[in-house]
Amino acid sequence: MSKYLASRLSNLVAYTPGEQPDKDKYIKLNTNENPYPPAKEVTDVLTEVAPNLHLYCDPACKALTEAFCNYYSINKEETLFANGSDEILALCYMTFCEQSVAFPSISYGFYEVYSDLFCLDAYKIPLTADFRVDKNDYFNLDKTIIIANPNAPTGLTISLSDIEDILNTNKDNVVIIDEAYADFCDVSCKELVKAYDNLVVVGTFSKSRNLAGARLGYAIACEALIEDLKRVKNSFNPYNVNMLTQALGTASIKQDEYFKNCISKVITERNNFIRQLDKLGFSTLTSGANFVFTTHCKFSGEELYNKLRDRKILVRHFNKESINNFVRITIGTPEQMKQVSKALEEIIL
Ligand code: PMP
Repeated sequence: MSKYLASRLSNLVAYTPGEQPDKDKYIKLNTNENPYPPAKEVTDVLTEVAPNLHLYCDPACKALTEAFCNYYSINKEETLFANGSDEILALCYMTFCEQSVAFPSISYGFYEVYSDLFCLDAYKIPLTADFRVDKNDYFNLDKTIIIANPNAPTGLTISLSDIEDILNTNKDNVVIIDEAYADFCDVSCKELVKAYDNLVVVGTFSKSRNLAGARLGYAIACEALIEDLKRVKNSFNPYNVNMLTQALGTASIKQDEYFKNCISKVITERNNFIRQLDKLGFSTLTSGANFVFTTHCKFSGEELYNKLRDRKILVRHFNKESINNFVRITIGTPEQMKQVSKALEEIIL
């Protein structure tokens, strides 16, 4: 740390991203990427767009907005794009949080990091003993609220009616629902933005749309909330979504069959893999996401992580009380999951 670091940041602990090793060395199941590459029709647009890179990109993401809004039947004033949903979350913090922000104590790590970065009090709400978000803990909080649905790393979902109850009891505060994994369970609040002026739905092209490396996230909310977010975005970085990413995103919306097919393959594989885990004596939380969160009574989470790593399989372990004995395993291709099942069988038996 230099003597020049702003004193308010001296205790800031940065987010630790999952390892990004040489992809040929490991079966990489640690950061919830889609195991399938983007459709060829999507990557083909890069050659069309590249000659225009001497120009700035469109700060309003017009073509992308039009394709996206047509697809989801929303008005173009009801959405905003950013450099990954991480940036959307940061913009939400900057735009809506006053003094404190509430979120589940076990959830996406960035919620706490952003609380520290933006000098806010983090009001962390414990999960229930069975790792669920209990709606009653979120009523009348008088704070901005963030909930990932499905939650990460548990994979558990909360119902739309529970979310509506939270929205109705927090009318004076914004409730942000982070739907990074929602396409893998088909529970989405997107429709609710028409009815609730305090709801921001956050989504990403990183998981279900095969574009983690392109960095594209979005917010969907009523026009007034999006206007507020745009005011901050345009005061911070108007050109936040580069030209290549805008083109990739637009093209990906048009490849609907490919999108749905990849999701369905991941869901099928998730369900098969959970059955394999059951046979090996693992306890696995019900997953609405493209990963599973699982534990075995004979091994700690760290042991499982290390034993898999020794076999060139990379998963995620969180060194955090109450989830210490779990590992989070991203769902890969059937071939990858066969190798994971085989490795786990060797470890357990
Ligand atoms: N929300 C959740 C719950 C996540 O797990 C992640 C990525 N790991 C993100 C948001 C951010 O995704 P991205 O910035 O790639 O859109």
